[in-house]
Amino acid sequence: MSCAVDTAWHNRGFDSLTSHSFFMSKAQYGKKVVKAVVSHRTCGVCKWWKRNRPSEAVRNHRCVHDHTGSVRLMESVSGERGVCELHKDGTPVEVIEGDGDNTMIARLKSKSNISLKKKFDRNHIVKNIGKKLYALQADKSTKLSKLVILHIQKCVKYILAKNQGDPKGIEENLKALVPHQFADHTMCQPPWCGYKRDRSVKYSHRSLPYKGPLKDDHLRSQLEKLFEPVVMKAPQLADLGSSQQCEHAIREVTMTAPKSLHYGNSESLDFRVKATAAFINEARHYISKVHSEAGLSPGVHSLRYADKCLKHRKRVQERSALPSTKRRRLQLKQERSITQGAQEALEDMSYQSEIGHSDDADIQKLPDLVPRGDFKPIVLPTGQPTYIAFDLETNWPYTRWPDPTYYPGCCHRT
Ligand SMILES: [Zn+2]
Ligand SMILES: [Zn+2]
Repeated sequence: MSCAVDTAWHNRGFDSLTSHSFFMSKAQYGKKVVKAVVSHRTCGVCKWWKRNRPSEAVRNHRCVHDHTGSVRLMESVSGERGVCELHKDGTPVEVIEGDGDNTMIARLKSKSNISLKKKFDRNHIVKNIGKKLYALQADKSTKLSKLVILHIQKCVKYILAKNQGDPKGIEENLKALVPHQFADHTMCQPPWCGYKRDRSVKYSHRSLPYKGPLKDDHLRSQLEKLFEPVVMKAPQLADLGSSQQCEHAIREVTMTAPKSLHYGNSESLDFRVKATAAFINEARHYISKVHSEAGLSPGVHSLRYADKCLKHRKRVQERSALPSTKRRRLQLKQERSITQGAQEALEDMSYQSEIGHSDDADIQKLPDLVPRGDFKPIVLPTGQPTYIAFDLETNWPYTRWPDPTYYPGCCHRT
């Protein structure tokens, strides 16, 4: 069996008291939750007895405390526990698809003598490259815009998607990726490089700024350095998996166990996580099933409502998987990032840590753009008009420090 695995902590910042892991089946088996593992670092009852009755033995209770190590260790330990339990239940896991952030596979091999095949999550690979690129952007010595970063990420996504099962292809394409952006097409392949495909047409880099290649040599060397380890990993990148469904399950848990509330002192969190798993597998019908199991009426209205919700869920799933919807999502994201930057430039700094304490807060807003004029030819009563040709050299109005604008012009008397 091939499983996607991911773990989430209840709190950010590595001081969480609980964690939950999901083992999920692949798309051909319906992306169902195969196993949900919850780990606790504390138990409410044990804590109360230790604090209030230190001399007495803790009363008999269903203790939830099952992890004594650090928070970071939780992910590998709970993953290991899940795999072992699945093995015991007669459904052994052979392939694990995950983000590769933990040491679960090494632990399983050394402790339980279970060897698994691992596949990395495609989104995490692209995200990690993105993180490195943004770190490079923060470094003031290189000029790298967000547009270029998004474009490089998109190219990496294409390379990974088109060359699954072909490590050599991935290696060649990744090697050619950076030089291609700098108009060096010696390593490019005709199927994807427009320059190589058709030499008769002038090639323009459609997604790069000003539709031209990048020029900064320093940037090129930095990018090539950044991609070196990625190229080395090419054989692993040729067989990628996805743990996207786990991300969805984890997000769903935040509906029943909000991050701002602590449910980890008792089994409350376990019930909430398992209810989420049941919800993902059975949709809302799980509520009626629990009712029937407990000898209660399943509820006519509940059943009807569950059917309606399931229909809606399927419709949304089908729609969101369409390429046109995905493209629209990407387009909206880009639009949002452009308008956000533009509006922030007009408004100046309005939100920052402790900005309210300063006396000279700037609340002036730059005026909106002058709308485009309604240009029409005019007829002068005096006869022929004078044509003036001028070249308007100006910057994009939303850059933070606009250069002076100047209008060189000349008259043409006709
Ligand atoms: Zn306890
Ligand atoms: Zn090329």
